[in-house]
Amino acid sequence: MENQGRNPPKRLVLIPGPFQGHLTPMLQLATILKSKDFSITIAHTQFNSPDFSAHPDLTFLCIPDGLSEQEVQSPDVVAIVLRLNDNCESSFRECLTRGTNHMEPGDKICCIIYDPLVYFSGAVACDLKIPSIALYTNSAAYIAVRPILLQLKAQGHILVPDTMLQVPVPLHQPLRFKDLPIYSYGSLDSFLEGLALTLNIRPSSAIIFNTIHCLEESPLARVHHQYHVPIFPIGPLHKFAPTSAVSLLQEDTGCIPWLDKQTHNSVIYVSLGSVAHMNQDQLSEMAWGLANSKEPFLWVIRSGSNPGAEWIEAMDENFKECVKDRGCIVKWAPQKEVLAHDAVGGFWSHCGWNSTLESICEGVPMICQPCFGDQKVNARYLTHEWRVGLELEGEIERGTVERAVRTLMKEKEGEEMRQRVFDLKHKFDVSTGDGGSSCHYLSELVELLRSF
Ligand code: UDP
Repeated sequence: MENQGRNPPKRLVLIPGPFQGHLTPMLQLATILKSKDFSITIAHTQFNSPDFSAHPDLTFLCIPDGLSEQEVQSPDVVAIVLRLNDNCESSFRECLTRGTNHMEPGDKICCIIYDPLVYFSGAVACDLKIPSIALYTNSAAYIAVRPILLQLKAQGHILVPDTMLQVPVPLHQPLRFKDLPIYSYGSLDSFLEGLALTLNIRPSSAIIFNTIHCLEESPLARVHHQYHVPIFPIGPLHKFAPTSAVSLLQEDTGCIPWLDKQTHNSVIYVSLGSVAHMNQDQLSEMAWGLANSKEPFLWVIRSGSNPGAEWIEAMDENFKECVKDRGCIVKWAPQKEVLAHDAVGGFWSHCGWNSTLESICEGVPMICQPCFGDQKVNARYLTHEWRVGLELEGEIERGTVERAVRTLMKEKEGEEMRQRVFDLKHKFDVSTGDGGSSCHYLSELVELLRSF
């Protein structure tokens, strides 16, 4: 009779974007809010649906998304996002109004928390007059600068001329026009259409960011100015939900015993995230740059990330012979565990926002090789604002890679970055500790949710 007299937990519906970098922070937020005594339903698309069995205390609701097998296989992420939003709005509305296995039609939902990538859920929340909160899984700097792309489009020069590339974007220091977050896979028109729709969202109640106030104070202020709703920077979420199992792909933990055999800070970890693709030439330049650097490396090559070939079977035999056991290559790593490992001294990354936060949290300096979109913004901040990363610009070429790896792992410049990222890590620890800013914003968010 423990719960006698207590109100039942309030129900929140959380809708993640269906890609690893979006799913991860939403599931972490779900775990955190569950621990604050909310009842959580994760409403997800069929495409890239999360592993329910890893979250027995959450309820899962599958929204029929109508994507064909062919659409699901497409590397054109923007096309998938546009299609999902078109297809899911009515099915999601129906799930909420007609009820499901897990939800009766009259069940009160006190708030919908959604990823703006799946903006259909914001529209449904608005129609049904349910309070809504957006969770941005990107940096605030990226969110703050996006409107510039639509301004450029309106002026007729979205693809800025070469003479403008190095010019600073007014009011968005340290960004240059070349750092603007254009998405380069698929059609530019579809990207801009999606961007316009995403920018249009108006969460009714608040915005949550997986970031830290002291890291992004001025971009956060700019976002606040754009949206005029309370902003809750409660990151890095993985620090508050360290055990939340979130991976869509099978992690190969075999790399941990390999790392155990390496010396302190000696290994460069290489991963370009869950979406980016590499062609055979790029892979080959990366491989030979790593081989020639003579430094130990752990490299994630996702299955399917090189569309023309089947994983490392396509790697050069000479390369394999040259690196022998100085290199370990896996299809997917337990990244947070890898970055926390004593042997890892550098991270060559595409600068996705989760990878960026995870690297800083473990005090690991980076080689920044952004591929598209928000990664370009994050890379510029890493290299020129926080100064904890080296920039790899232009076409990947083995000589540049070799120099960058040596600089990061062996030279004074790399050591200075290691010191700076260590200082930032300390600030993160303070922010996520008792009385820190992220803790404070989290308490305020919980209070707001309880008030609905
Ligand atoms: N990740 C992982 N194993 C890997 C590579 C990546 O677990 O081998 C995780 C990583 O820890 C991060 C996420 O996948 O949480 C990638 O998200 P990010 O925002 O960095 O990039 P995206 O994949 O969205 O481009």
